[in-house]
Amino acid sequence: MTIEQLCSQLGGQIVAVGEAGFAAAREGLVWNDRKPETTPRVIVKARSTADVQAAVRYAAANGLRVSARSGGHNWSGVALQDGVAIDLGALDRIRIDRFGRMAEVGPAARNLDLAKALTAEGLAFPVGHCGDVAMGGYLLGGGFGWNEGTWGLACHLIDRAEVVLADGRIVTVSETEHADIFWALRGAGPLFFGIVTRYWLRLMPLPPAMAVATWTYPLARVADVTAAMKRLADRLPAFAELSVSLAAAPPAAGLGDARFATLVLTVYGGSMTEVAAVAANAGHLLPDAAVAATPLTQFDFATLYGIVDQSFPDGARYGVDCLWGEDADATLDGLARMVAQAPSLRSNAIGVIYGQNSHLRRGLADAALSVVGSVCGIVHGTWADAAEDAANLAWLRNGMDALDPVTTGRYVGHADLAREGRIKDCFSAAARTRIATLAATYDPKGVFAGRRMCDADATPMIAVAAA
Ligand SMILES: Cc1cc2nc3c(=O)[nH]c(=O)nc-3n(C[C@H](O)[C@H](O)[C@H](O)COP(=O)(O)OP(=O)(O)OC[C@H]3O[C@@H](n4cnc5c(N)ncnc54)[C@H](O)[C@@H]3O)c2cc1C
Repeated sequence: MTIEQLCSQLGGQIVAVGEAGFAAAREGLVWNDRKPETTPRVIVKARSTADVQAAVRYAAANGLRVSARSGGHNWSGVALQDGVAIDLGALDRIRIDRFGRMAEVGPAARNLDLAKALTAEGLAFPVGHCGDVAMGGYLLGGGFGWNEGTWGLACHLIDRAEVVLADGRIVTVSETEHADIFWALRGAGPLFFGIVTRYWLRLMPLPPAMAVATWTYPLARVADVTAAMKRLADRLPAFAELSVSLAAAPPAAGLGDARFATLVLTVYGGSMTEVAAVAANAGHLLPDAAVAATPLTQFDFATLYGIVDQSFPDGARYGVDCLWGEDADATLDGLARMVAQAPSLRSNAIGVIYGQNSHLRRGLADAALSVVGSVCGIVHGTWADAAEDAANLAWLRNGMDALDPVTTGRYVGHADLAREGRIKDCFSAAARTRIATLAATYDPKGVFAGRRMCDADATPMIAVAAA
């Protein structure tokens, strides 16, 4: 198939390297202002599943590699590969079957839009913590979202999905149809050997009362904060979540470069009375003398996103990495040290401790998502100028290296995939082998970019601009 033939088949557009608009289309594939160096030859802006089929067939016929892009929010920018980049940004439809409690969503549907549409119907889904992130990559990686203690991981609520395979075939995958592909769809992330063009998601009733409260301490008190989190992790009900944000105060607070540990409690209850009781009980187990606190405040998801998304503005340069572990004290101490030494005041870290009763401690469903821990740490390096890349990346990578002794794995959605071996850390050995075997079966010629990473799992996922 020639590019002219492809053009004639598409409802969407093609932009080839050298054409007007190519640079902007390439930039737009990755949200992070720090882009990988790789350049596709052709960008296909798909408008339908048929467009995706045609683009995959064109790539396969011409020996080009395919990469999919739903929302471009992968921190490492893995959507930007050589070959044919398929931009699914127009496939953002959301359709809700209220009575069947099922949503049909395109891969580019964003957390915020899905949450708003569901709220209007009195329904919910474990959407991710930031509004702009798209379902495509979020669900493929696993999907750690709001109220995961009750609802579980987002990928476990995928009922079925429509997938375009390397030979251009469309298949519907579920527990009963192409169950092996469905197994991989739930967690393989960038290693997935197909393109998801539609998901059907099982929905939950919207909790009648949702509220958040925060308590802020000087960063130096991170050990006290960790001790309180450990106490609470085993005591809080599944519908309450506690995390810690380690960060400088926003410039408007006028606190200079002082850094803080802020405990964030979100509760999803049957009534505000129940939610208030949980928050009050939690409050008794927290360290005293918080330097600031926000009282329990009711929220809806749109409001919550309005607050959280301020920490992840468009146009910033990000370097992000994460870890799973079992040693809460050492992990949160290490994260606090990193934040204290961060060259950029905008950088922050998040820590979560999963208690004995947590859904993660009960074992994972059989799916590609195969590595978790009782402690999760995520570091978001955030800065403004390319001239600051080297200092910030060195800080991020040295800091994460110092945490290696307490690291037992990583999450593919936040791992620094430009680093050697990172993708390997995201899967159990058995899951890696199974993904590679399935990829060899369904993508024997290596049409999809992820296939290369399956074959050589120590290779970085992307070529990133030198720091
Ligand atoms: C601000 C921010 C907040 C986040 N918060 C959370 C969170 O709360 N919980 C969480 O679990 N994760 C979170 N993440 C991580 C996020 O889920 C992943 O980075 C995810 O990859 C983003 O999805 P995307 O569709 O934008 O990915 P893209 O950058 O578009 O794609 C990345 C890669 O995923 C694969 N891919 C994407 N779409 C498809 C598709 N339709 N078919 C086949 N392959 C596809 C491809 O290999 C592609 O190269 C967050 C990320 C950001 C930037």
